Amino acid sequence: MRSSRIYDYVIVGAGIVGLTVAMELRKRHPTSSIVILEKESDIGLHASGRNSGVMHTGVYYGTTTLKAKVCSLGACRMRQFAVEHEIACKKVGKVIIATSSKDLPILDQLIRNAQGNSVRADYLDAEAVKEIEPHASAYEAGIYCPDTAVIDSKGVINKLRELLLDASVDFIYGALIVSASNEGRFVKTLQGDFFYGYLYNCAGAGADIVARMFGHANDYALVPFKGIYYQLKGNRRHLVKGNIYPVPDMELPFLGVHLTKVISGEVYIGPTAIPALGRENYGILKGIKLLEGFTIARQLLSMYQDNRENFRRLVHEEMKKYYKPFFAAAGKKLVSSLESVDLESSNKVGIRPQLVNLKTRTLEMDFIIEKDQYALHVLNSISPAFTSALAFCELVVDQAEGLQV
Ligand SMILES: Cc1cc2nc3c(=O)[nH]c(=O)nc-3n(C[C@H](O)[C@H](O)[C@H](O)COP(=O)(O)OP(=O)(O)OC[C@H]3O[C@@H](n4cnc5c(N)ncnc54)[C@H](O)[C@@H]3O)c2cc1C
Repeated sequence: MRSSRIYDYVIVGAGIVGLTVAMELRKRHPTSSIVILEKESDIGLHASGRNSGVMHTGVYYGTTTLKAKVCSLGACRMRQFAVEHEIACKKVGKVIIATSSKDLPILDQLIRNAQGNSVRADYLDAEAVKEIEPHASAYEAGIYCPDTAVIDSKGVINKLRELLLDASVDFIYGALIVSASNEGRFVKTLQGDFFYGYLYNCAGAGADIVARMFGHANDYALVPFKGIYYQLKGNRRHLVKGNIYPVPDMELPFLGVHLTKVISGEVYIGPTAIPALGRENYGILKGIKLLEGFTIARQLLSMYQDNRENFRRLVHEEMKKYYKPFFAAAGKKLVSSLESVDLESSNKVGIRPQLVNLKTRTLEMDFIIEKDQYALHVLNSISPAFTSALAFCELVVDQAEGLQV
């Protein structure tokens, strides 16, 4: 029989959110006992180990959002963390370019967001865009964000684990949470029971499931979107110096297919936002569980019928991207000299665990926090949760400790 263990703080999930919350707790409570319960056998097997490592600056988010509060500060702290611990990180900048006249008013909105969030962003005409990204094909205008950086995100999470182990934070792997009693303040896991003083649910794509065990997250359903990437062949990498992004659809929480020169020098193009049938459905069928697949399919069908935020068009456009020439066409809008033959497949694929609000029937754009006296749940930890983590963890712990509402 497995034993029960007692900790002051139990954290569920060893992604960037769980790791940084653990760092923050250790900083505030040097002598407390802290454990991170992770269902996998290692860290970084999901979003935090599969992302592009772009440190966003915060131009996309309205000033009242949680994302706006933590993105730019988080990016700044992450860059400092990289310097302190010799993790590869490079400020390469980003251009966001209009590809048609309907994008131009959105550029204005992004500039207003940047001003409201005290983030540097310059409005550029198409010629000025070319001075920064010579191969970008802007329609009339674009925006330059000079502070956007790229980082070795696996290097970050590995270093955080090392620091936490040195600071006597325990890691238990294979510890899938199977049930919880918030009154009794314990969780049952595949590695035994854990009693806690306070619990932080930072389970990423599994956070809504864990939250429901505590009577939370009842207004939300999860719809996973699969992000597939190609990469540019070696002899075409010169087409991108830093980051070339399209103007996003401000009604949707996706940034659109973009080109990023990651820290290793490879240039990735993607991601798609293809509806997936599982939280871990990284392959075509791999990662689909029957019941979960059925529930997600039913949710998707209902959204398709509703067609809010033009969901049907999104699905049609995204499904087409399984076909390489359509994928390449999305890239060609950003760099007109790009051809389908310039792309080669990559094994980079991620899942965006997107929450849908069941009352408003719309996709949630912001991070969501639900909490009670003994537990806090981080929901919808989508991009830019990696960028924001070193500031977001402070806000999360403040909220749990009643220092912020
Ligand atoms: C393809 C892709 C590209 C991205 N690019 C960027 C980018 O450039 N910049 C950026 O800022 N953000 C980016 N993001 C978003 C960013 O990676 C995520 O927002 C962030 O990593 C989420 O971290 P997390 O800790 O919440 O989740 P995760 O990293 O998924 O960690 C959650 C952990 O919880 C564990 N877990 C789940 N359920 C349970 C359970 N029941 N019991 C125990 N453990 C459990 C999981 O195994 C996992 O290890 C990208 C995401 C994707 C998918």
